[in-house]
Amino acid sequence: MRSFVFDALPGRVVFGAGSIELLPEELDRIGAKGVLLVYDVTSKDVADELIERLGDRIAGTFSDVEQHVPLEAAQRAWEAALEAGADCTVTLGGGSTTGFGKAIALEMGIPTIAIPTTYAGSEMTPIYGLTSEGRKRTGRDIRVLPKTVIYDPKLTVSLPPFVTGPIGMNALAHCIEALYTKDANPITSLMAEEGIRALARGLPASVAEPGSLEARTETLYGAYLAGAALAAVGMALHHRICHVLGGSFGLSHGDVNSVILPHVARFNAEAVPEALERVARAMGADDAALALFDLAVSLGAPTSLAGLGMREMDLDRVAEMSLEEPLWNPRPVDTSDVRAILDDAFHGRRPSRAARPSPMAS
Ligand code: NAD
Repeated sequence: MRSFVFDALPGRVVFGAGSIELLPEELDRIGAKGVLLVYDVTSKDVADELIERLGDRIAGTFSDVEQHVPLEAAQRAWEAALEAGADCTVTLGGGSTTGFGKAIALEMGIPTIAIPTTYAGSEMTPIYGLTSEGRKRTGRDIRVLPKTVIYDPKLTVSLPPFVTGPIGMNALAHCIEALYTKDANPITSLMAEEGIRALARGLPASVAEPGSLEARTETLYGAYLAGAALAAVGMALHHRICHVLGGSFGLSHGDVNSVILPHVARFNAEAVPEALERVARAMGADDAALALFDLAVSLGAPTSLAGLGMREMDLDRVAEMSLEEPLWNPRPVDTSDVRAILDDAFHGRRPSRAARPSPMAS
């Protein structure tokens, strides 16, 4: 056993089918009186039920949610919270919606209860993101960590397969990078490996039968573990590339995760073979990169950047932007490495069995 540091985060998790019913008690626990309900329009029916149930505890609502929290939209959310005189936000939606709760918490210091409806995992982390002038900037601040997270698998049965697959690949990416990041420790690695196991079992079943509460429960459990692992440790190359593609080229976060993950797994495998063997074992496969690519195909999730509408002429810029700021990765990486990963990802190639040599080495 090696020495390690594990910085456990505070936070309460209420998990189970129907657990949204417990929101009033959870609000009591944190002493919230005036709630700003921040919700994604796809959850409007559930939001309407909450508004009716909570009555005058709802001080205001905000549903102008956009991916990657554009600064102007965050400013509108701050105004909504101020006007409502809210002392708490409740977010109901995916990672984009949770991101608005975090932006409000960061600016105004009021607590959040998150009710996630996707597999993003943001609800478990103290990481926030704000996008301005075409760039997404992220930071860590304990104030943005939701006080309570209510995971209700019933809220996820409406996620269509074309959303379930890519967002599930995003959750897998959190587990995988958590296994090889420099802060990895035995506790987060346990969460990550169990998360991969749950996601690899739950996702295909959730796509095949979206209404299956059993499949949705397993997938949401995996997504929770993925978020918890992400929260405790840093990420690496995969997440950096995805943030550039999402924040600066307008691609959907889940979609780019699905495309990029197998290629970064192949690239990093030679530096951290034990971590990638652990991934393969949890997926019931013998090679992680191939298993991830094949899983994406079987989920109907994207496997090529070209298919997402990315222009090949922009790939050089993506490679440069990915390494503009210092990056820790288990295998040293330069722009030509990133460009080679992007090339495979652009064309949607199934990863080769062996890692490509770095272009600079040849
Ligand atoms: P999202 O919140 O944008 O949701 C994706 C789509 O699914 C949207 O169209 C939404 O309307 C729809 N949707 C959500 N819930 C639904 C439901 N139950 N039924 C039907 N449709 C539903 O996407 P996401 O992948 O959940 O989150 C992505 C965002 O979260 C990105 O901005 C990403 O950077 C951020 N994120 C942040 C962290 C963090 O720690 N800060 C972690 C992961 C992701």
